[in-house]
Amino acid sequence: MPDGNIVEVDSGVYLVAGSSTNWVIVRDGDTATLVDTGYPRDRERLLASLAAVGVAPDGVAAVLITHAHNDHMGAAEHLRLTHGTPVLMHPAELAHARREFLHQVSVGRVLANGWRPGVLPWAVHALRAGGTAHIPVVEPQPFPEEGGLDVPGRPVPVLTPGHTDGHCAYHLPGTGILITGDALVSGHPTSRRRGPQLLPPMFHRDRGRALDSLSALEGLDAGILLPGHGPVIHTAVGTAVAHARELATLESRPSGAP
Ligand SMILES: [Zn+2]
Ligand SMILES: [Zn+2]
Repeated sequence: MPDGNIVEVDSGVYLVAGSSTNWVIVRDGDTATLVDTGYPRDRERLLASLAAVGVAPDGVAAVLITHAHNDHMGAAEHLRLTHGTPVLMHPAELAHARREFLHQVSVGRVLANGWRPGVLPWAVHALRAGGTAHIPVVEPQPFPEEGGLDVPGRPVPVLTPGHTDGHCAYHLPGTGILITGDALVSGHPTSRRRGPQLLPPMFHRDRGRALDSLSALEGLDAGILLPGHGPVIHTAVGTAVAHARELATLESRPSGAP
């Protein structure tokens, strides 16, 4: 590090590719906002990415969580316990982060989809990376204010439920950057498609709601989209949403290819 894992998409804004999930660093001097934290086993890579852009772990003003899946929340509790970093998320995601329940694709459902291209290799990786580890954030915090948060980048949470009940995207106003998390991705090891899309159906808590939530994104002033999986999308968000909807309609047809 630094290496090809880190893409500076704008001054001080970095999309970092973990072992199969992205996180985002929004730097302001030697402090930063960190959006998501990769799989539990991505922790060293996460800390190395902070060091590579000149931010010490103590310089992380807050961890913002898009949603409480293991591949996004893996190192959040470590940062909270070791460095006192606040871990913020939408109120509707708090109980999930505390692991009062787990809305994450089950091993059984993955196996039932094992015939699909890419699913088994992905599952092996997910298990190795800590995808089924029990990693609650013991004291997650709801956003302390409405609208833009008082941390580097002043990200504005955009509630986009469906993938999970309290999933949030984060808009960085004035930059054209939108961190979409798993509400809109550009690829996944279990998808043969590239470009803006929803994750495959088995990953959503409520796919219909995830599809509806695209309307919360489409009107935002954004042309640089940073997804939870896949590379940066350099497309106006309205166009990206239209593309994802079209693919989702194809996949909803009974005869449609997965
Ligand atoms: Zn997810
Ligand atoms: Zn994910």
